[in-house]
Amino acid sequence: MERAVVDHTRGARGQGAAAQNPLTVMTEPCDGQVGTLLPETGNQVEPLVGPGVEIDEYGVDVGHGVADHQRARPSDTPHGDLQLAGEHEVVAHQGHRTWLWHELIIGVREGARSRQTALRDKPAAGDPVMQINTVGIVGAGLMGSGIAEICARQGLRTLVAEADEEQLAAGRRRVAASLHRARERGKLSEEEVDQILHDLRFTIDLDEFAECDICIEAIVEHLPAKTELFARLDRIAPRHAILATNTSSLPIIEIARVTSRPERVIGTHFFNPAPVMKLLEVVRSIATSDETLDETRRFGELLGKHIIIAQDRGGFIVNLLLIPFLTHAVRLYESGFATREDIDEGMRLGCGHPMGPLELLDYIGLDTALFVCDSLYEEYANADYAPPPLLRRMVAAGYLGRKSGRGFYEYESSPAD
Ligand code: NAD
Repeated sequence: MERAVVDHTRGARGQGAAAQNPLTVMTEPCDGQVGTLLPETGNQVEPLVGPGVEIDEYGVDVGHGVADHQRARPSDTPHGDLQLAGEHEVVAHQGHRTWLWHELIIGVREGARSRQTALRDKPAAGDPVMQINTVGIVGAGLMGSGIAEICARQGLRTLVAEADEEQLAAGRRRVAASLHRARERGKLSEEEVDQILHDLRFTIDLDEFAECDICIEAIVEHLPAKTELFARLDRIAPRHAILATNTSSLPIIEIARVTSRPERVIGTHFFNPAPVMKLLEVVRSIATSDETLDETRRFGELLGKHIIIAQDRGGFIVNLLLIPFLTHAVRLYESGFATREDIDEGMRLGCGHPMGPLELLDYIGLDTALFVCDSLYEEYANADYAPPPLLRRMVAAGYLGRKSGRGFYEYESSPAD
């Protein structure tokens, strides 16, 4: 292990007095990196003061401002080096100063690569892992109803909360319809469907989540709505409970910071339809603990999902790649370049996609897609993520896709029926 001794009485540009009150900073997780930073940057400051230290001197909030400026350049990639600065500004408010600094050193030099390595670290075999018996799902729309179904199908006690009685009834109908479809396909027996419906508990009283081991939020993709909910869940759920969000694009750390347990907050990004799609993208913020990551991974595996681990960057892995594809398809259609059918058939028959991009947008829900575009554009300031004007107009018109009966195509019934 290596220690870097840094004189904080000096400015990062070496104008201060000699070291009299040196601050010792542990650099164990990035052994040797502080020293090796200097030759690469050509920085003329004294030894052991690399760019991470410099940002720390300026203040992480200033570093974030620089990152904001930098990322606006078209050549910047969403996973570029300076992205970490934004994340650390958030954590700085919580006072993890030494850790914060270490991460910045890694972040500026190595960017996403170092973080990936950290994400793969697992607790040692034999570490105690929390038993998950009761799951609470908030929101019983397209995603929440599907997540509730897969939890209940695994025999977990599953509570489902909605905003009001009307939405709750729609959520219950969605789950029942999906279970009956599974029965028709021979995946479930009549008795199993009855048992699962019996085991699911629907409520509009969030206080019932006081007995949950994990809460999974699947409400509207809107940060203020999610942070308000997480502040409530934090007060209600037991101290040991994991608080998970199904967000498609919002920063997990922004959600975690409103709770008193940021280390227990994590992203669990299921795919639509949740009972069918194999993937679960688990998203770890810089505050998420190894235990939380490991327990969430095991929970996902228990649900029969294949787990991939993503960083807390807008869009994670899948939507970072998918959203530009979808928005380009809308722009093709909007410009009159091709018909909706030809665009969709092109990708289905030419590329083997199960659905064309416009069909997929209808399936996802145009309102949700618009929220995701907005938040990715906010994160990266990159035109690939900007919502096409047609998408915004369709949402304003109430053309939300399958769930409203009309999107790029027309539908006779919504999935809730
Ligand atoms: P949806 O509009 O179908 O459902 C959202 C539900 O949340 C609604 O039923 C609404 O009544 C309920 N709700 C809103 N505020 C609530 C509150 N405070 N308390 C309880 N219930 C509340 O949306 P969706 O498509 O299910 O998306 C939900 C989340 O999952 C979003 O974050 C979205 O980005 C994400 N997601 C969506 C998809 C997709 O394909 N639609 C895929 C992966 C992730």
